[in-house]
Amino acid sequence: MSKAPRACVIGWPVEHSRSPAIHGYWLRQYGIDGAYEKEAVRPEDLAAFLSDLPAYDYVGANVTLPYKEAALHAARSADAAAKAIGAANTLWLDANGVLQASNTDAYGFMTNLDEGAPKWRETCGVAMVLGAGGAARAILHGLIEAGVPRILLTNRTVAKAETLAREFGAPVEVMPWETKDSALSACGLLVNATSLGMTGQPPLDIMVGALPSAAVVTDIVYVPLETPLLAAARARGLTAVDGLGMLLHQAVPGFERWFGVRPEVTPALRDHVVAILGAA
Ligand code: NAP
Repeated sequence: MSKAPRACVIGWPVEHSRSPAIHGYWLRQYGIDGAYEKEAVRPEDLAAFLSDLPAYDYVGANVTLPYKEAALHAARSADAAAKAIGAANTLWLDANGVLQASNTDAYGFMTNLDEGAPKWRETCGVAMVLGAGGAARAILHGLIEAGVPRILLTNRTVAKAETLAREFGAPVEVMPWETKDSALSACGLLVNATSLGMTGQPPLDIMVGALPSAAVVTDIVYVPLETPLLAAARARGLTAVDGLGMLLHQAVPGFERWFGVRPEVTPALRDHVVAILGAA
């Protein structure tokens, strides 16, 4: 009889990860005899852990900070998204036991946007992305793949935005952080990919009122769920999409790889994770 499949999330630290709540919910919902664990792996142990996942009895893993780049390099091959983003968040062993890598953050972001604002493509000639960290890389990849022709990228540290613009090429133009408000009237989509607005961080200071009335605003911060940016967008009558759906949807491809069922992101799953976030 084959063993029940086990997967995990690897990080350092890893205690904060919400992934066990999501995968644990699906394992119960689909009645799968499997497990999903948290693995706090020390930096000096990472290479050995990743090169020998089966010895730890795992069929695959999610990877969180600070190991997403290292996970990409540890895998024998990676999909186009992981290569373009330069980081992996999902690993699995293929039929030959060879480690494969993917990055599902762009998929999660785009699926959440499509779900929360199904008509965003109709009004999005120009998008503005705030931030140039790991999440912004995934979002740029997703928006470029979706065919957004012009993306204004702005970040407190301009050099990081310039690096991303060089990597991602033509659709991405860098705007100085201090003058971002001046371009908002041309933007059909505004994405916050900074940590501003998160509990314990300052709010994002931006003139939501300058956006066109058909604009869509999405914030990938999900603690709190309703960030000051989203509240301001809703008060203005704009379509606002919160960041929790990105977290939920990015988990789907990994679960399917490890446990053989493509899971659904349902309102009940969302309520389950919201309750956990509320209790945190
Ligand atoms: P990261 O790599 O650390 O990047 C943080 C970004 O926030 C950088 O662009 C940074 O600018 C900017 N920032 C931080 N403090 C700032 C301040 N006081 N003023 C202006 N900009 C500031 O983090 P990340 O992984 O990209 O994540 C960014 C946020 O997205 C986090 O809140 C994270 O929880 C959230 N997130 C959500 C999801 C989801 O599934 N919904 C997924 C990934 C991340 P500098 O470059 O100038 O430092």
